Amino acid sequence: MTVTIESVITCPSCSHQAAEIMPTDACAYFYECTSCHLLLKPLAGDCCVFCSYGSAKCPPSQEQKGCCA
Ligand SMILES: [Zn+2]
Repeated sequence: MTVTIESVITCPSCSHQAAEIMPTDACAYFYECTSCHLLLKPLAGDCCVFCSYGSAKCPPSQEQKGCCA
């Protein structure tokens, strides 16, 4: 299957969107908005900021391996 490695993160504070390339072997737990510099953290139950705020879930989750395991 194809894994998407680009995810568009939408800031919950200012709605700024930024396309980011996700690492395939690690999780991004923190992400700083490039517009308002809010430090994003995953929502409860999510493993990384891409799962919470991105247009695509992180590669390990897409492969259903579980993230950060
Ligand atoms: Zn922002």
